Amino acid sequence: MSRVALRVSLLLLLLLLLADLGRAGTEFDQEHDGEDSPHSREKGPGHSHWSYEDRDYWGQDYLDCADNMQSPINIDMAKTIFSPQLRPIQLSGYSLPASDRLRLRNNGHTVLLELPESLAITGGYAQQYRAAQLHLHWGSPSGPGSEHTINGRRFAAEIHVVHYNTKYDSFSEAMVYPDGLAVLGAFLEVGPRENPYYQEILKHLSKIQREGEEVLVPGFNIAGLLPANLKLYFHYNGSLTTPPCFQTVKWTVFNQTVLLSHDQMLTLVTSLRNDDSKPLQNNYRLVQGLHGRRVLASFQTTLLSEKHLPSDSDGSAGGERHSSSSFHAGDVLAVLFGVLFAITALAFLLYIYKHRSQNARLDSPTKSKVIYTAATTENTA
Ligand SMILES: [Zn+2]
Repeated sequence: MSRVALRVSLLLLLLLLLADLGRAGTEFDQEHDGEDSPHSREKGPGHSHWSYEDRDYWGQDYLDCADNMQSPINIDMAKTIFSPQLRPIQLSGYSLPASDRLRLRNNGHTVLLELPESLAITGGYAQQYRAAQLHLHWGSPSGPGSEHTINGRRFAAEIHVVHYNTKYDSFSEAMVYPDGLAVLGAFLEVGPRENPYYQEILKHLSKIQREGEEVLVPGFNIAGLLPANLKLYFHYNGSLTTPPCFQTVKWTVFNQTVLLSHDQMLTLVTSLRNDDSKPLQNNYRLVQGLHGRRVLASFQTTLLSEKHLPSDSDGSAGGERHSSSSFHAGDVLAVLFGVLFAITALAFLLYIYKHRSQNARLDSPTKSKVIYTAATTENTA
């Protein structure tokens, strides 16, 4: 038996090493996926026009961009701090009648939907915030383009719903104050079905391919663009992710992701052109240093996965939601549990086999039979 145990431990060690190498490989890819564009900076210093190609130099023209409370960030789930005071985000006025007309614009950096001031965050923040606009960040047909990352993982795309504190008169007034802005962020991923809420935006993109073009779109339920579960989120203090990078944003990044069909994602990443008439792609900023900031979580990241919670939608929106849970207490953990499961099962089989063939002593083979639950293995996909 001890020889078997030795072999099993060696095998386990080997598999652990392999799993680790595999993960290191992905991290390397992710770290470099945004840096394929040349860093050349054709426009001289002092120009008021910025682009994602010179994002490494934003700090020269916009001093805040080089400061130490910048966004986006990587959210290391193991380092987040559970805060029971973080109540579910509550939205009001998000369901707009089709008789409303909203301005949808290609501003050269993103597609931006202007929102009426009737939309507001009424729960989850200490103060009240009014909506101003929403916009998206995305990658290219060959790579993801979310701004925030979770445990180093970049998602296909990211939505930002920008709000300002109602104690200020306007967005532009609020944006310079530390408590001025609240942005709700959610990750977009490819799923099996078309998302009808995103379709309300995507179907108009062909009409605003060039920078500066805009179109009026009928109102719809804006909350449908966000995940159904508004209880599970991360919270931290950061900045606008584009110049002037003001450090005035209280960020909420939802744990649950939103699903778009493959075709919808392709439409998003291929429809628009930037001010150079090139494809508007990879319009995301690389993650910034935390510099001692703490990231709070509204839930205990180490213990649960959100599938244990009901996925009701806080009464904010009806209809079918196209979202799914994405990251769990760590893909690595899931892999480890899977490997451990396999190893233990193998050892058990060997053990049984050996004792059967020897056909000698009495044993207690039932002892280690029921300790496994397969709950974590489905997360490895
Ligand atoms: Zn944004």
